Amino acid sequence: MDQDVSPENRLIIVSNRLPVVLTRGENGSWDVRPGSGGLVTALAPVLRNRGGIWIGWPGTVQAEDLHLEELLAEATRDSGYSLRAVALTEEEQAKYYQGFSNEIIWPLFHDLQSNCNYDPDYWFTYQKVNRRFADVIAENSAPHDFIWIHDYHLMAVAKELRVMGIRARCGFFLHIPFPSPDIFLKLPWRFQVLSDLLEFDLLGFQTLRDRRNFVQCIRALAKEVAVVSRGQMTTLHVEGRQVRVGAFPISIDYAEFADHSATQEVADTAWYIHEDLPQRKIILGVDRLDYTKGIPQKLDAFRTALRKFPDLHEKIVLVQVVVPSRFNIPKYLDLKTEIERKVGEINGEFTRSGWVPIHYIYRNLNRRELLAYYRTAEIALITPLKDGMNLVAKEYCASNLEHNGVLILSEFAGAVAQLQKGAMVVNPYDVEGVGRVIYQAVCMSAEERRFRMRRLRHSIRKRDVYWWVNSFLQAAISKRLDQFPLVEDYAPTREVDHWPGSVCQAVVHGPVADDDRPSSPHR
Ligand code: UDP
Repeated sequence: MDQDVSPENRLIIVSNRLPVVLTRGENGSWDVRPGSGGLVTALAPVLRNRGGIWIGWPGTVQAEDLHLEELLAEATRDSGYSLRAVALTEEEQAKYYQGFSNEIIWPLFHDLQSNCNYDPDYWFTYQKVNRRFADVIAENSAPHDFIWIHDYHLMAVAKELRVMGIRARCGFFLHIPFPSPDIFLKLPWRFQVLSDLLEFDLLGFQTLRDRRNFVQCIRALAKEVAVVSRGQMTTLHVEGRQVRVGAFPISIDYAEFADHSATQEVADTAWYIHEDLPQRKIILGVDRLDYTKGIPQKLDAFRTALRKFPDLHEKIVLVQVVVPSRFNIPKYLDLKTEIERKVGEINGEFTRSGWVPIHYIYRNLNRRELLAYYRTAEIALITPLKDGMNLVAKEYCASNLEHNGVLILSEFAGAVAQLQKGAMVVNPYDVEGVGRVIYQAVCMSAEERRFRMRRLRHSIRKRDVYWWVNSFLQAAISKRLDQFPLVEDYAPTREVDHWPGSVCQAVVHGPVADDDRPSSPHR
């Protein structure tokens, strides 16, 4: 049992990846840097402020070669929480993560069943790796801790803990959608996956639709389970135990985005972006390379808009950022080829002297660049075919300090449940419809843009990532964040961004007053 954290009632977060990226430098030494992605973005500030343990795979299969424990301890020395690594072999990583998680559950739960590869070996390794995670949790937890497991990679962990006799309270949050029964029924291990999920004490989904889908699967496949719905919470009665099921839409650290966007470095970068594109309205897309994000369909819609509305020519530019992801899976490489072919075709068809309609960026942006694009883009075009939430939509609004941005959002993004009143909601498969909405967004009056953006920002500010964590913990253990003990001698501050590892950025300067922030002097 660890001595450097309070012995009980801690928050133990468990996810596939630790919130760090380990890289080997040119001189052979290892470097620890912050990771990226929705989960890290959402949870790091919370643990940073409250202390606890984060358990996960460190991101390298060579973990045994290096002094990992020391490196992780050094990396989080001032952070208020500690990290514990789960070691995985290359083969385990390939079959559990790439295989079962990303070639079966990911496409199936995003309604793209034809992309699934139901290799039985994947399922075997998935269970084995879930057991490995449970071992590390057992070594590092106490009976009164609350264990919060994240996402589809780890659906069998509570079952494994119970088999070991660990009875600590366990919650699970699914970051991706949960499919309807007609799709879930295709899963060869459907009974096992459902019964593994029923070993948790609280199951959290992103939206009411996901929760309803899960409950319908229970009704269809686990007829012995009694379902009682009352208000926002459904209770399942399973062999004398109760499993509660709720919807908890994840969000962002709104104040951090608004504050950081207001800094001079972001304003300057935003100014340079616009300087390079004078007289153009910027339409921004930011998506991980993934077939669920609907990037080819978005490009088709943009092409349709240019064909149908020639007055858009030379007035708009689509800046499409594609963040590299999962390149080991052939479908992702095929997707990259398809995107680049379409970008080439559209630019080939419309480019004029001084105007290139699509600016395609295939890399990870740093935070300053990302916020500068958010801040400067007049329109965000976010059109996933299916998405658990989509944090980019919320980040764009939080960073839109001038209230002049328009959010075009897919009706199949989880975020739409919260943002539909301010966003222009589209069906991403309807390329003509999306093309029309692009035109309407370009023509929208300043008053309407301001009205919609205020609504969006208000809703995201009210339900930020702290609200999300509080709601989940309240439902799980009737506790709010501020009832978790602070680690002794650790005074949380918003002055310094305590990313674990060698990269620390001083960024935040107290709470934001928000809405009526003056524009950047450059704009
Ligand atoms: N993001 C990033 N680097 C980039 C572009 C985006 O780290 O170059 C972050 C972005 O800030 C957001 C996350 O990636 O927090 C994407 O989350 P989202 O929920 O939109 O989609 P996901 O990739 O998790 O499916």
